[in-house]
Amino acid sequence: MESIYEQKPWLKHYPEWAPENLDCDSKTAIGDFRESATLKPDRPAVFYFDHEISYQQMDLFSDELAAAFADMNIRKGDRIVVDLQNVPQFPVAVYAAWKLGAIVVPLNPMYKEKELAYFLKDSGAALFLTHDEIANSLDLSFLKETAVKAVIVTSPLDFLPEGADLPKLLQRPRKIAVPETLDLMEFIKPFKGKTANSPEIRPEDIAYLTYTSGTTGLPKGAMNTHGNIAFNSRAYQCMQRLDANDVVLGVAPLFHVTGEIAHLGIAALAGIPLILYYRFDPGETLRLIEKWHATVTVAAITVYIALLNHADIHKRDLSSFVKAYSGGAPVSEAIVSQFEEVTGLYLYNVYGMTECNSPSHLVPWGKRAPVDPESGALSVGVPVPGCVMKIMDLEKGTRELPPGEVGEIVDSGPIVIPGYWEKPEETAHAIRDGWLYTGDVGKMDEDGWFYLVDRKKDMIVASGYKVWPRDVEDVLYQHPAVKEAAVVGEADPYRGETVKAFVALKEGLADSVTADELINFCKARMAAYKYPRKVEFVAEIPKTLTGKFLRKDLRGK
Ligand code: AMP
Repeated sequence: MESIYEQKPWLKHYPEWAPENLDCDSKTAIGDFRESATLKPDRPAVFYFDHEISYQQMDLFSDELAAAFADMNIRKGDRIVVDLQNVPQFPVAVYAAWKLGAIVVPLNPMYKEKELAYFLKDSGAALFLTHDEIANSLDLSFLKETAVKAVIVTSPLDFLPEGADLPKLLQRPRKIAVPETLDLMEFIKPFKGKTANSPEIRPEDIAYLTYTSGTTGLPKGAMNTHGNIAFNSRAYQCMQRLDANDVVLGVAPLFHVTGEIAHLGIAALAGIPLILYYRFDPGETLRLIEKWHATVTVAAITVYIALLNHADIHKRDLSSFVKAYSGGAPVSEAIVSQFEEVTGLYLYNVYGMTECNSPSHLVPWGKRAPVDPESGALSVGVPVPGCVMKIMDLEKGTRELPPGEVGEIVDSGPIVIPGYWEKPEETAHAIRDGWLYTGDVGKMDEDGWFYLVDRKKDMIVASGYKVWPRDVEDVLYQHPAVKEAAVVGEADPYRGETVKAFVALKEGLADSVTADELINFCKARMAAYKYPRKVEFVAEIPKTLTGKFLRKDLRGK
């Protein structure tokens, strides 16, 4: 008999416009961009702060850069590192690389020499594109150990019109000359109006190597293919009901899978504008939503928390922003309610990971995520079309669990990457018979909604009971003074492990609550084995640039 998961009980929650499967055969990420550039040349592709770049301009710039890359002997399959903030040069470099069939390795601009050396060596990259200020601050001698042929630098001001007022986020000298590097604008000058010969790009060709954060072992380069991106962009397009009137707010970093698919991928597919503004800043985000009538985004919940805590949230007109999705980290029902009270906007949950090219589950636009009556967790949504997701036992991962039982979430379908770059063992461990073992613990209810409990490795065992940090954090968020909460296990002579919470309080409420009061608040709302025995106040919870709390940095503190 077909398993419950193969029967897809979630289909009944699909809106009437969403099909069970997506027609995506032979589609590629570069093909989607080329189609929009051909069909909508005059439409804006990027709004960079207050300025506009059309699809035609984006196509021309990337043609010229592709010609310059080709002149440096870049061929299909070569790797190019793009170590940039959210600037127009990012998509220009991506499309230029893809036009040659080269693979983009997006990196976090915060990385220093040691980290960069690892990624450059592991990917075997031939070119390193970064900001002038980054190259200027690094000792570039580590490049000798790598296969990098040239460093190309670009200023975040390069794509602002001559004489334009400098945005607040970019108060800096126009250009920094960095010895032994090539300046991007000079690099493309000889190739004005030129274009390179493009090889055939197939869906199975690799588009990005996106390095996973590597909480266990060394970071691994997930091979996101052109077909993966084309598919997942269509999954968003369908479930968010994107059309020609949508405008994407590019608030997640483009170097993360969220930026790759939920920003660049969907904009290129739908031929709609993407708002870029260097890096996240709450005031600038609110201003640009209002200015360009942004309609859609995927951002970390910490972004929405920062917006809620910014005075301008009450002043700006956010009425266009009706497809605000939160992904990448747990979303508590309390925050969703607060955001809706203040802005009138409902925050949609979306769940996914680098290895499944951003969305695997999401709340279809216009629906509301149910809340699990047992744990109070907000559902992460339903699987995207054309895929089957299951819950498997936590011990071996070989036994399918019935609805309502908690186990590991495993995903299958065109969303799953073919593997990690040159890491066959890690690939075989993560992807078994086509099923991606996510390392996330969760369940599906009888109705087909999925809930995330936590990361498998973050489980706390207190007096023999399993405690999931998420459950405790969700209760802490119900307290009106709590801004951020992260819960970890701490070694304990009696309980084996005990539960400790790190809490950041809202501005102006720093002295309004004591640790004991918070402990009692939790005690009154959860089972005795779960409530935190210790609460430590911190100014801010350490987090990754993509908004994930770094629980590992808090353990042992
Ligand atoms: P990354 O590969 O950096 O995108 O990280 C993926 C991980 O982020 C997932 O495996 C989850 O643990 C977590 N995550 C993503 N989306 C959500 C969500 N909506 N709720 C809770 N955790 C999430």
